[in-house]
Amino acid sequence: MMCAIFTAMTDASFGNLTDCGDGLYVHVPFCATRCAYCAFYGEQPRRQDIDAYLRCLELEWRMRGMGGSFETIFFGGGTPGALSCADFEKISKFLPIDDVALREWTVELSPATVTAEKLRLFNDLAVTRLSIGVQSFNDGTLAAMGRRQLAKKSLDAYALCREFDFSINLDLIFNVPGQTMQSWEKDLELAIAIGPDHLSTYCLTVEAEALLWKNEKPQMNSDDLEFYELTWNILAANGYEHYEVSNFCRPGRRCLHNCNGWAMGEWLGLGPSAASQFRRRRFRNVANLNLWMDGICRNSPVEEDAVPLSRHLLAEDSIMFAMRTCDGISVAALAAAQEFASADLASLFEDFRDYGLVVFANGRAKPTDRGLLLADAMALEILKCFK
Ligand code: SF4
Repeated sequence: MMCAIFTAMTDASFGNLTDCGDGLYVHVPFCATRCAYCAFYGEQPRRQDIDAYLRCLELEWRMRGMGGSFETIFFGGGTPGALSCADFEKISKFLPIDDVALREWTVELSPATVTAEKLRLFNDLAVTRLSIGVQSFNDGTLAAMGRRQLAKKSLDAYALCREFDFSINLDLIFNVPGQTMQSWEKDLELAIAIGPDHLSTYCLTVEAEALLWKNEKPQMNSDDLEFYELTWNILAANGYEHYEVSNFCRPGRRCLHNCNGWAMGEWLGLGPSAASQFRRRRFRNVANLNLWMDGICRNSPVEEDAVPLSRHLLAEDSIMFAMRTCDGISVAALAAAQEFASADLASLFEDFRDYGLVVFANGRAKPTDRGLLLADAMALEILKCFK
């Protein structure tokens, strides 16, 4: 039953979000220091480990990706900027950066790793997009998160990036212990003043494995809601399109790579701990550099959480992610799905509308700001209609 819904939804629901094809994700698992809130897998950037990682990355690409055509490439981490220019040149010799299908190539950079030499190389290699991990322009907030850079470093790094023609995203974090609403507002105002093409604003969540949690239970701000509302109001008033719970952009500057993932498209992830949704399977590479390298060298990659990519799974996740996007779900898709539902979808969405959670516009049911805050709860109510 969910299969038919998925067909209806992919045909009708996500056309507005992206028409982007397969993505390629490269995970660079090196971080010189550990941020206090972070529970991601990471290794110190030792030269011999980076060299071995690069050799295995090429092997993994040849094993899994050769012959594929990719419309987006995304280098994430960890800290991709921990790689040297020579490292990036090596990678560029085997990844499909000359593929005519390629539309977007993003590299995540922490401000401390931005250099003119690296930016010149990215420009020559035709990287199109940089995502800078600013997190905050307030030195006290940065210290509370265990970030090693000062705000001035972020501003200098941004100014250097702006000397080239990259589309630029800034990552910012709110709800940090000790952060006031006023200091968050200043972060937003400063970000707007320097004019990035894209902003990702994340509410701090601290995983149990993170240092911040291990040292002492952090005092979280209880007013997340106020942070969200302030953020969304300020960015909307300054011309940023809100297109996903945490993501905002200037017109035409959505992150295609992420949109493809949210629309349950396919992507291949390379490197330790990289997730993939590729060739009808969903899996994650083992989050351990040595185990990952051993597996790759033995031509037997070590994977975790591998599941066949059933249409049922895709349908469920399509609904979950669609409700987190401002484009929402198409009314035509809902009508097509009704045939398979055990409850009246139209009346459920009318209830959502009456509660101020969605609006109907341009043939779509689009979450309002209030609806985005309750996106997961709405998605669960929709899924109940198919049980
Ligand atoms: S937040 Fe990013 S830079 Fe900081 S430790 Fe985690 S992966 Fe590394």
